[in-house]
Amino acid sequence: MKVAVFSTRKHTRQFLNDANSGYGHQLSFFEPSLSPATAVLAEGFPAVSIFVNDQANSEALTLLHEGGTRLLALRCAGFNQVDLARAGELDMAVVRVPAYSPHAVAEHTIALMLALNRKIHRAYARVREGNFALDGLMGFDMFGRTVGVVGTGRIGGLVAQICHGFGCQVLACDVVENPDLAGIASYVSTDELIRNSDIVTLHCPLTPQTRHIISEQSIARMKNGVMLVNTSRGALINAKAIIPALKAGKIAFLGLDVYEEEADLFFQDLSDQVIHDDVFARLLTFPNVIVTGHQAFFTREAVASISQTTLASITAFEQGRPLENEVTAEMVVR
Ligand code: NAD
Repeated sequence: MKVAVFSTRKHTRQFLNDANSGYGHQLSFFEPSLSPATAVLAEGFPAVSIFVNDQANSEALTLLHEGGTRLLALRCAGFNQVDLARAGELDMAVVRVPAYSPHAVAEHTIALMLALNRKIHRAYARVREGNFALDGLMGFDMFGRTVGVVGTGRIGGLVAQICHGFGCQVLACDVVENPDLAGIASYVSTDELIRNSDIVTLHCPLTPQTRHIISEQSIARMKNGVMLVNTSRGALINAKAIIPALKAGKIAFLGLDVYEEEADLFFQDLSDQVIHDDVFARLLTFPNVIVTGHQAFFTREAVASISQTTLASITAFEQGRPLENEVTAEMVVR
């Protein structure tokens, strides 16, 4: 099948081409992300593949449909970037990769927690300058601390298990309990979790209910000196509310792999440009903030698995078989 692959980088091409030896699709790679302005690139392609920060809004989907596209294959788990209601109206199938390597994201979450706690980013720079002083590098034992996991699906469930392995007390909140966490995590309300956790880590999807789940109000209820980690979706946090909390020391550690306005920043080399997002630029000035550019998923195992699942879904669509990774508007939690 002819597939227009948007938001491609060298690694995307390499892994998709390797996986495609088993499928034989005609892959055309485009570096730009999908938007109403770029949708025309996919004219004549029955299948289109996109990534996390593409804009599959109503306008882009309408343009794709006019160009003959009938399948949208997301190379990611989250699907908040797609107007699923519009896709349904257009009878355009949407598939995703629900689970490629939850370990990749869970392990990156723990990497952020440990780096923030033990100030690895500061120690790395300091030692390279020949400065071996320990002042300002003191951390805390993870053992015995309370970690609150918001969303205990595939990724949050693993984070809870790893933290339990450190000897942490694990609090959890979710709309459905994960049976694997019996004896590992105690389910409480979101409010109770926020009030009682030393570390709050976010692993729920972005939905109308979870947008800005971390706001000025929820931060006010957190423990003083809390650590906040978000490797899920940027808009779970109202970033503007974070800055006063960092200045006041209410949030003493912040680890972000995602950011609400990341689409204008991440996955590009902007090192010779001025960053226009003042909130993001301010975040980068704090010594107790670590930001990574949406790389939590980025392991060999995960990228190979994403490529395999995406191509398998395209083959299933081409052969008229059921789409086991299909997402529809009805799946969005209302
Ligand atoms: P999942 O569907 O297995 O788990 C999500 C959990 O969140 C579910 O158990 C769900 O019931 C729960 N949830 C839904 N609404 C909630 C609410 N209001 N409060 C608390 N919990 C709620 O998904 P997953 O595979 O664990 O992925 C979690 C998120 O991680 C994805 O939605 C995606 O946005 C993000 N993600 C990020 C990266 C990255 O590279 N940074 C990679 C993959 C996924």
